[in-house]
Amino acid sequence: MDRRRRAPPRSPWLPLPGACAALVVLATGAVAEPPAMPIVIAHRGSSGYLPEHTLAAKALACAQGADFVEQDVVMTKDGVPVVLHDTTLDGVSDVRARFPGRARGDGRHHVTDFTLAELRTLSLSERVDPATGAQTYPDRFPAGTGRFGIVSLEEELEFVAGLARSTGRTIGIYPEIKAPAWHRAEGHDLAAAVVALLGRHGYARREDPCVLQCFDADEVVRLRRELGWAGRLVQLVGGAEQDHLLTPEGLARVAEVADGIGPSIGRILDGDGRPTDLVARAHAAGLVVHGWTLRRDRLPPWAPAFDLLQDRLLATGIDGVFSDFPDLTVARIRAGDGAVRR
Ligand code: CA
Repeated sequence: MDRRRRAPPRSPWLPLPGACAALVVLATGAVAEPPAMPIVIAHRGSSGYLPEHTLAAKALACAQGADFVEQDVVMTKDGVPVVLHDTTLDGVSDVRARFPGRARGDGRHHVTDFTLAELRTLSLSERVDPATGAQTYPDRFPAGTGRFGIVSLEEELEFVAGLARSTGRTIGIYPEIKAPAWHRAEGHDLAAAVVALLGRHGYARREDPCVLQCFDADEVVRLRRELGWAGRLVQLVGGAEQDHLLTPEGLARVAEVADGIGPSIGRILDGDGRPTDLVARAHAAGLVVHGWTLRRDRLPPWAPAFDLLQDRLLATGIDGVFSDFPDLTVARIRAGDGAVRR
């Protein structure tokens, strides 16, 4: 056995039921748990290699060693949560060819205008710009090829549970409640439906391998205080309109209901690739930090190579990261080993 190749310690965010925690013998002879490695969240699955939110992309993510696989969740006309990033279908499916005349005035086909049965007839594909047809990430899976379908959240939960059983691994899920206010205006309570569904599939407690995420701060509060979500919860933080969430007062308010924040990488590293003080301030508020999104094919100007971006990000003490290329991120974390331990 090669003693240099040891498995990284598991994050407390992803416990292994029944497994003994790895222990470290300190120089004093005392025994302590090693600090956890950052968790890797496969962003929309292993979306750098296969069309986002297809079961193929989720299976690949599991095979590549991702700790969690992400589900963006929107709702159908008949009230079924499905796994799609956008509230419209035009950028990732053949909806325009299949359902001519079903677009709204904005020219887009909206998920809430279609039943699950209708959505099942669509073919999912690599993301394109609906206006031009140009593939968003040109070097990825060829748009318009392959046979992939839309899945309901329940189908994906069953798929992940099946993989967890057949592989013997714990595979975490990381669902995002998309556009809750928009769904409410359409007559749907998406968050309530997702919490109920998760509960029926065994995801309800902090120790369950599930993290709920949402950009809408009011909905994060509602998930915890009204809808009774007792599992892990992350407040996503995007553009400047959410700056108030990251002030000392804002972080303290977030920490009253959430376990962590999910900021963009641009808030964790500045325009020159240097760490900001955000990770330290979030940790001081008792919040973990899961940053988004690592993409090999979309690097910031200061990073000529993907691994430089990964190394700079991991060196900030971040607790987890969303990656379109989970295999490369898992490999980098393991290669760094002690250097990136928190
Ligand atoms: Ca997401």
